[in-house]
Amino acid sequence: MSFELIERNGVKFFRSDILGCPHGFSTRLGGVSELNYTKSLNLAFGRGDGDEIVLENLDRFANAVGVDPRSVVSRPQIHSSDVEYVCESDRGDGYFSKSGISCDGYFTDRPGVTLGVKTADCVPILLYDPAAEVVGAVHAGWRGTAAGIAAVCVEKMRSLGARPENIRAAIGAAIHFCCYEVGEDFRNSVESLAGKDLAERFIREWDGRLHADIVGMNVELLRESGVTEIDVSERCTCCEPELFFSHRAAARASGGRRGTMLSVIALPNVTAV
Ligand SMILES: [Zn+2]
Repeated sequence: MSFELIERNGVKFFRSDILGCPHGFSTRLGGVSELNYTKSLNLAFGRGDGDEIVLENLDRFANAVGVDPRSVVSRPQIHSSDVEYVCESDRGDGYFSKSGISCDGYFTDRPGVTLGVKTADCVPILLYDPAAEVVGAVHAGWRGTAAGIAAVCVEKMRSLGARPENIRAAIGAAIHFCCYEVGEDFRNSVESLAGKDLAERFIREWDGRLHADIVGMNVELLRESGVTEIDVSERCTCCEPELFFSHRAAARASGGRRGTMLSVIALPNVTAV
């Protein structure tokens, strides 16, 4: 299990070798954004780039990954544990149309629909069951993580016939324990949402301060759901601000202004005979 940095037409993105379906985790490299803090592959509206720049970036990233940019569904995210089923009529929602629905995860059994989650420190999780032909995608910030969104996605995928033992999960670059300093109130919130056990295991003192491991929390939640094939990126978004957009790094460097990355996954295209 490992992540590989791919470069296609100048776009650099990561791929996990366990998934075996079209997917990619974007970096900040290979787009047309020119602002210092969105340079260059910002994939979210409302971060300072004109919409046409974001759509050009989406075009470049989707083409590099090998999916149709107009097939990507990525709605406004609200740090919830809401995981929604999407199908053909949702293609492009969030980029080319606005359904008004907000959520933080998706699942589908429809080929030709690409699931997209946006992050800049939060944890992107892509899931695929090749036996049932079902994919899922999750944006897990600390709140969604503690509310168990990874487990919710596995549960929803099961409703379409997926089995945890067949599901492969890839967790992309996110803020890691090294950089995720938190406060007592954070620990209390995680404890009340996820229980004392998870809080104690994944929020610990380091160098005299509390740090949280939300990547580890998601791995644990996936394991508890019965998923065993889990590929975890070692990269910390906050440690490498030249490669990734990072909310925490931007708070220091640019007054919080930053771009946003996108992680996408779709079922393999089956060519009709
Ligand atoms: Zn770090």
